[in-house]
Formats: sequence, structure tokens, C-alpha cells
Amino acid sequence: MSTPYLETHPDERGYFGKFGGSFIPPVLEEPFAQITQAYQELKHSPEFIKELKYVRKHYQGRPTPVTFAKNLTEYCGGAKIYLKREDLNHTGAHKLNHCMAEVILAKHLGKKKVIAETGAGQHGVALATAAAYFGLECEIHMGEVDIAKEHPNVVRMKILGAKVVPATHGLKTLKEAVDSAFDAYVKDPINAIYCIGSVVGPHPFPMMVRDFQSVIGFEAKEQFDEFEGKLPDNIVACVGGGSNAMGIFAAFIDDTDVNLYGVEPLGKGEKLGEHAATLTYGEEGIMHGFNSIMLKDAEGNPAPVYSIGSGIDYPSVGPEHAYLNQSGRSKIGLCNDEEAVDAFYKLSQLEGIIPALESAHAVAFAMKLAKTLDKDKTILVNLSGRGDKDIDYVIENYPVPHAKF
Ligand SMILES: *Cc1c(COP(=O)(O)O)cnc(C)c1O
Repeated sequence: MSTPYLETHPDERGYFGKFGGSFIPPVLEEPFAQITQAYQELKHSPEFIKELKYVRKHYQGRPTPVTFAKNLTEYCGGAKIYLKREDLNHTGAHKLNHCMAEVILAKHLGKKKVIAETGAGQHGVALATAAAYFGLECEIHMGEVDIAKEHPNVVRMKILGAKVVPATHGLKTLKEAVDSAFDAYVKDPINAIYCIGSVVGPHPFPMMVRDFQSVIGFEAKEQFDEFEGKLPDNIVACVGGGSNAMGIFAAFIDDTDVNLYGVEPLGKGEKLGEHAATLTYGEEGIMHGFNSIMLKDAEGNPAPVYSIGSGIDYPSVGPEHAYLNQSGRSKIGLCNDEEAVDAFYKLSQLEGIIPALESAHAVAFAMKLAKTLDKDKTILVNLSGRGDKDIDYVIENYPVPHAKF
């Protein structure tokens, strides 16, 4: 599915305004050109569309529902809060939407192996799942810190048959995992393909991943109409690299009455190193092969970042988010660790839905926003994933609050 905006963005060179592009070593120019060409062909191929529809319906469990969060809405006392339930997508998050499609593309290109980075382990699990389904080898790079924190996902990847490679340099989190995966790919670009885990990286990945994720927005638009008979007034999604947010935004960018909020993690505070609020505090710069807004240290290198949500602690952001934000089409929401944990428990105890800590950032911001709006207004939150992976970490560090609400 498409819209006038999606048809015209990015431009042919992969630019959203001045953001995006492709800054890659010469050895990758040919493989990336092949990927771009294969995608342009596949995009319009009836077989590809048919295969993708088939796996979405009969394997992933799509469409995922939209749920009216009645109790949370009453608790907040303002705008109505709806949830797009990507937590119910197979493997527990939105990531499988682009992984299944990326692996079909890899197969089409005759690749034997898929390589990727992972933060919270969700992308790794999703890609290992897709690789198992389509019969390809899978190698996942993950920061040592995240390996310790996200133990269940590491075990899942191994059970699914993937090789997990620890990234042991620097802060040992998501950025280092990307460096490590990129190095592995550069060594074997003929047999392998790098399946990027978000709307980041060199062209065509920001466009491709957005298009594959846009199923979230197109489904939600129809489902929301069944409830309300109109468009949502506000859409809220957390932003790490920005794929779940672009996925839900995609269907609404041309509907200029719909406010689009990308929520950034404020972590422990506003100082560099305490957060990963890239659009809020960052500046223009090139990292991981694309031009966007990034958080830089004093030397101009990617700054250390932090968030309680392992999947959203990334020092850059998808170029399309930088573009939409600077053009004023999208807005930034902020949420710190404490607010995210509060929302994690509120959604669990008021709605019976345990959200991923990443998604809890979107819920927390929606709760703040709802309180400022009239009861006839609506907010559609992209609940990007479920919190099973986070329960041990949360319970050890933030005891269950007495439910007084
Ligand atoms: C990976 C992940 C994110 C962050 O990635 P985006 O590309 O910004 O969507 C958010 N929520 C969950 C549950 C994730 O697994």
C-alpha cells in the first residue's frame, strides 16, 4: 500500500530532504546497488506481495488488533487511548514485519546467510525466526552488556539456530553491535546480507524497512475507523532507530490533521550519556552510513547513550524522522526511565498487558498527553512489543507498586 508522500520520499538517491543517503566503503557499493534494484523489482512483483501476505496472515498472526484501553483512559481522565497491538505479532514485537520481508529479499538475491545487530534482542530473535522459516544461516551481533541484560532473548536466538557474536568494545551495547555486524558483513558481502533492524543505515534500508513496517499503519487506520469512524487525532510511538514509529506514521503522513509524536528516551537525565534523546539534543552528522541527527561527544564521535529500554538506546535516528521533525510534520515526546516503569506497571495492572520497556515510553507519553486533552480527542499508541523479556529486570530493580489506582 502507498500514499502520495510514500511514493515521493525518499528521492532516488535515498534522501529525505538533506537526511539519509549512502556513505559506504567501495566494496559495498555493488552489493547495495543490487539490494536497491532487487527491492524496486520485488516491490511491484505480484509473487512477492502474495508471499508476504501469506506469511503475515498464516505465520505472523496479522492483522494484529487495535484495543481500546478503557481503564487506562478512565485513569488518565482525558483523551481516549487506543493501542495497536504489535506485542501480539509472532516473536512479541513489530520487528518480524521487516525481517520476514528482508529474508524473502535475501533468498531472492541468492544469499546463504543473514547478519544483523540487535539491542534488546528483539531484532535478533525476529531475524533468527525468519531465517529458520526460510532456511538461511543467521549470525547476530550483540553488545556484551545487552547479552547479560536480555538473557531470555539470547537463549531464544540460540534455540532458533542462530550464532550469537558478542560485541566487546566501547560501551558494549547497540552501537557497538552495529559496528561489529557491519565489520562481519564487509568481509563477506557476496554470500551474506546485512538485515538492518530499523529505519537506519545506508539507502535503501530506511525506505525498505519503513515500507515493510507500514503494514502497522495501514491496518491501524482501518481498524481505528471501525471504532471511531474517523482518523485518530494523535499517534504516539517510541523512537529508537524509528521503525515502529515510521511503520505507524507511514499511513498518516498525508493526513495533516493527525499529530505524529515520536517519543524519545530521556533515561536518567538531560546530561550527555544519561539519555538517548537524539532529535532533542543531537546535531547533524554521519554515522553507520547515513546522514541524520546524532548525539556527538566532544570529539564529534557518536556519544555514549543510555535508556532503560535496550532497544532504544541508539545515538542516531532514522533519517526520515530527522526530516519529518525538521519540517514540522512530526513532534517529539519525551519520557524518562521512571515514567516508563510507571507506565509499564499501569498498563499491566489496568489493562492486563505487560508492555516492552521501549513501548512503555510511548504509553507514558500518551498518558501525559491524554491528561491535557478533552475526552472527545483520541490517541493511538503503537504498542511495539510485549514485556516478557523485561520482567526479571523490572522486578529486581523496581518492586511491584501497591495498586492504589
Ligand atoms: C527494537 C524495538 C524498538 C525500537 O526500535 P524502532 O526501530 O525504534 O522501532 C521499540 N520497541 C520494541 C518492542 C523493540 O523491540
